[in-house]
Amino acid sequence: MNSIALAETLRHEWGIESFASANIRSLVYNNIQNLTVLWFPMKKNISGCCSKTKDDKVIFINTNHTIGRQNFTLAHEIYHLLYEDVDDFIVCGVNNNSQSEKNADNFASTLLMPDSALYWFKSKNQIEDWSLEDIIKCEQYYQVSHHTMLIRLKNLNWINKNQFDNFKSNIIREADKLGYDTNLYKTSPENQKYSSIGELIRLTEKAYDNKKITGGKRREILLKSFRNDVLYNGADNLE
Ligand SMILES: [Zn+2]
Repeated sequence: MNSIALAETLRHEWGIESFASANIRSLVYNNIQNLTVLWFPMKKNISGCCSKTKDDKVIFINTNHTIGRQNFTLAHEIYHLLYEDVDDFIVCGVNNNSQSEKNADNFASTLLMPDSALYWFKSKNQIEDWSLEDIIKCEQYYQVSHHTMLIRLKNLNWINKNQFDNFKSNIIREADKLGYDTNLYKTSPENQKYSSIGELIRLTEKAYDNKKITGGKRREILLKSFRNDVLYNGADNLE
């Protein structure tokens, strides 16, 4: 099965209605066993990483990228974890053109916004020629980045190269003017650079028990991660 068909099948398995937008964070948390996702700032040229063992799956997402891009990266890493053999650790960058990366990108794009959903959106909103306002409305609905949205419209030949270039700029200002939340186009705010879902605490304790990390490192991870509440509750026992 190709990566697009895999994404369509997974949407069905996860109970996402055909044209509905997908809240990717809560979906992965509810549907993938033993998954831990960590959001934290990384170098600009890395979008995310993933790793799996017999017991655990871990995904890292770069919070220095926009929220739209982070949603895409999460869906992209799911492809590696669910459908590929992951030896050790995969690092996904913004400029990697391997077949595996292309498959993961196609998968992510379809998981968040299948072609059928785009056809539905176009017809529901009676769109003949896509305006920037239509584009913003659609990307906000599916919570995908402006870049992803433009690429999809270009691939469907619904916009041409000139429009693609013209629609690229001033997106935050335009979305703001139309009354949309502009967080989709921005990197995580300072107080949300670190967050996690899943098994971080158990994995940290396991690494500490197996002497893979020091007590200091364990404290640092729990402090940053991301889970201040846990650290402070048990702060006396940590050193
Ligand atoms: Zn990748």
